[in-house]
Amino acid sequence: MSYSESFDNTLIEYISSIPNREGAGKTEGDTLYERHPLKRVIDEMPGGFFIYRADESEEIIYANKALFRIFGCETEDEFRALTGNSFKGIVYSEDYQAVEESIKEQILQSQYDLDYVEYRIVNKNGEIRWIEDYGHYIYSKEAGGVFYVFAGDATEKRQRQREVLRTINQEHLRRLAMIEGLTLDFDSVFYADLDKNQIQAYRISSRFNLKFQNEYQTCEYDGFDSEYLDTWVFPEDREKVARAATPAYIRERLAQNKNFHVNYRIINHDKIEYLQLCIINVSSSERVSQIILGYRSIDDDIRHELEQNEILCEALEQLKSANIAKNTFLSNMSHDIRTPMNAIVGFTALAQKHSSDMDKVKGYLDMIEASGSQLLRLLNDVLEISRMEAGAVYVEEEENNLLEIAQEVQRAVLSRATAKDIEFSLDISGLKHKYVYTDAQKLKQILVRLSRNAIKYTEAGGRVEVRVTELRELSNGLTAYQFMVKDNGIGISESFMAHIYEPFERQRNTTMSGIYGTGLGLTIIKNLVDMMGGTIEVESVEGKGSCFTVSFHFRIKEGEPSCVREDTTPVQMKEQQKLLLVEDNEINLEIEVELLQDAGFLVDTAVNGEIAVEKVKNAKPGEYALILMDIQMPVMDGYHAARAIRALQNPDLANIPIAALSANAFDEDRRMSRECGMNEHLAKPVNMPQLLKFIESVTEGKKVC
Ligand code: ADP
Repeated sequence: MSYSESFDNTLIEYISSIPNREGAGKTEGDTLYERHPLKRVIDEMPGGFFIYRADESEEIIYANKALFRIFGCETEDEFRALTGNSFKGIVYSEDYQAVEESIKEQILQSQYDLDYVEYRIVNKNGEIRWIEDYGHYIYSKEAGGVFYVFAGDATEKRQRQREVLRTINQEHLRRLAMIEGLTLDFDSVFYADLDKNQIQAYRISSRFNLKFQNEYQTCEYDGFDSEYLDTWVFPEDREKVARAATPAYIRERLAQNKNFHVNYRIINHDKIEYLQLCIINVSSSERVSQIILGYRSIDDDIRHELEQNEILCEALEQLKSANIAKNTFLSNMSHDIRTPMNAIVGFTALAQKHSSDMDKVKGYLDMIEASGSQLLRLLNDVLEISRMEAGAVYVEEEENNLLEIAQEVQRAVLSRATAKDIEFSLDISGLKHKYVYTDAQKLKQILVRLSRNAIKYTEAGGRVEVRVTELRELSNGLTAYQFMVKDNGIGISESFMAHIYEPFERQRNTTMSGIYGTGLGLTIIKNLVDMMGGTIEVESVEGKGSCFTVSFHFRIKEGEPSCVREDTTPVQMKEQQKLLLVEDNEINLEIEVELLQDAGFLVDTAVNGEIAVEKVKNAKPGEYALILMDIQMPVMDGYHAARAIRALQNPDLANIPIAALSANAFDEDRRMSRECGMNEHLAKPVNMPQLLKFIESVTEGKKVC
């Protein structure tokens, strides 16, 4: 039977089964289309339509032309041959079972026995096409069960849909990648729905493995973190973390903010690590329900923060101790200044009162002189330290003779030791290379200060020894030298050792010990040693003596020294040497003239540099044994004057030894003096023994500057 005939029968049966339906009961002899004008419409309609039996045979009873075209067939016969004339033959074999099951299920569930399925077919050209199938199951006594199906070719539509889907998917993937990127530092991420009491893992660290074995696993929200809390979280923080994850607390916090976090600690391999739980509101409505929970390590941040806090605390401590130090300094200073000042004021008053008693006056003046010296020493030490702290003191390494430095140290302290009946010895037997590159001024200062201390803290009849030893040549071309200053004096207590280099610290103050001091000497020594890259150590036993050892690494100069200082300006001092004193301050001039004359010199004076240069220019060679040059003066200062003298044509005049006599005695002042051609830089007020020593050294042909 053709589709026309079977359609005719089936449709008649179907339509007649519908109550009150027009067209039922037409007389025989009508043409098919007259009887069923609907058939012509269905035959020619652009969409596919077919009817097949709902029994096992699934025989196709009718198919319209549009369906043929979907299958690429021209005729009914071609279509029948291609599909075997059954629904099973229409559906692509791989899709058939799923399609059948879906239709069955839909018909069962549909009130109107309708179904919708999509499946693939293979057309006559072997091409795979997609079909949308809207089916309607009908049962009538006459025809039994049949499916009326409207079928359309959905291949292009699906392609378009797939395109859209792909775009959506790409966008989705991009968003996921963004979220992944942004949440990279979270080792565990969960999505939870509080209303549904559900939580799903998206990323899980091994710490959540007890509850979640794999990603995307879902479980009840209540208690999802109990194992985690018990196993990992630091006991003291458990309550805090547990509370942060309770729905009530989350709702309360997220009602005000989009997110919140709690920091807590976990114990990992017996070590504490810092973590953070972040909870973010992603609810679709006003009521907080959907949330994201992220767990991440903030160990590095917290540790950094703790370190910063520690640094801040340290800085605060330093500030406090700096403040204490400042107050101690001021109180020490006021004490140390007041004591000699009192003496000066008091003894001056006494001297005035007893001006007719020369013995008494002399005694008072001695006391005034001693107090003045104390004040000067204190002033120098304080200035030295403050300059060191301000970074204004530099190490200047030059080629120097260690033997000379040691001998100068000896000269500087010998008279003091002799006066106190202390045996002073210098041992240089361990010195092999005497020419080294070092800052002679600073090295001398260190050794003189240590030696003076040794003499000061050793009782009469004691011994002080300075020993210079060359230890060994080091691999870096340097040589290790050791300078030891040893005494058998009063020694230092163990408890004081810890404070020995701190400013103003003294084991016993002047009142208790009767030994004057500022407590600044060792601070200066330690600073100088540090600056020169050396070390200082002390060993001491109370009542037995002390031994300070200073070690340096010096570069040694091989061969004969190129030092020109030794041979320059050889001046033979004669009896009644004449000095030119250049000084603008009247009082200073008067005092200095008197002191120099008392010391047996003839003194000529000039009140500024210009006059001094004129006087030297007009002097006979050898007339002035030495020029003492003030620095700060009107008309022409000491530096310019010295340069002008050194530039004189007559070498006998140009080479007269010049010593700067200045209130400023810092490194740069010394350097300036040297650069201007002066031989020495002496600090004011004039220290006669020092000045005499310099004159003596000039007489011997040595230069000290
Ligand atoms: P000053 O000698 O002016 O007090 P220092 O800074 O040079 O200051 O020394 C600090 C303290 O160290 C001294 O007061 C003294 O108690 C102790 N001291 C230093 N050198 C010696 C030494 N050779 N023997 C015993 N005590 C010393």
